[in-house]
Amino acid sequence: MKIICIGRNYVDHIEELANERPKDPVVFIKPDSAVLPKDQDFYIPDFSNEIHYEIEILVKIKKVGKHINEKFAHTYYDEIGLGIDFTARDLQSRLKEKGLPWEISKGFDGSAVIGKWVDKKNFQDLNDLNFSLSKNGTIVQKGNTALMLWNIDSLISYVSKFFMLKKGDIIFTGTPAGVGKISANDYLSAKLEGEELLTVNIK
Ligand code: ZN
Repeated sequence: MKIICIGRNYVDHIEELANERPKDPVVFIKPDSAVLPKDQDFYIPDFSNEIHYEIEILVKIKKVGKHINEKFAHTYYDEIGLGIDFTARDLQSRLKEKGLPWEISKGFDGSAVIGKWVDKKNFQDLNDLNFSLSKNGTIVQKGNTALMLWNIDSLISYVSKFFMLKKGDIIFTGTPAGVGKISANDYLSAKLEGEELLTVNIK
C-alpha cells in the first residue's frame, strides 16, 4: 500500500506558505510505515521543533488502474475520509532551501493519521464537502472541496499517469489554509460534514 500526497491544492494555503501556484499538482509519497497505528498517540519526534498539522480529504483506491481517464476516475473509489499529514516544517524548510528532496520531513513514522472511512454515497456532491480540524476544541482549519485547484477525479487521473494505483492505496488531497504547530498535550479532532472521523492525542 502506498500513500500519495498532493501539495498546494488550495490557493489560500499556497499563499500562507508564500509558495508559487503550480501548473500541475505537486505530488509526493509517504511510505506505508508513516501510518499512525489506529488509536495510538502521536509522539513529537526529536528531529523537529515545528511539527505542523495539515487536515486533508482522503480517498481510498479500490482497484488497480493506470492512465485513468478523469471520466472514469469515480469508479476507482467508494470511500473517502479525513487524515492529517503531519509535517516537520522546520526540517522541510531547511531541505527546500537547499533544493533537496523533503521526503523525511513528510514521510516519517506516524506522519499519516487516517480517520474512519465513509461511503461516498453518503454525500450528494463530493465537490462540495465541508471539513475542519479542531485543536483543543477550537477550529483551526476549515476547508471545502470546492476550493481545490484539482478535484478528486482529476487528481486520480493525474497521479495514475505516473504511479499505477492499487487497491488500498490512499490519496491525501492537500490541505487548506490554517496549518500550524502542535505541542505536547494537544488534542486534535476532525469533522467531515459535521461527523467526527478522526481524533489524536499529541505526546
Ligand atoms: Zn499535506
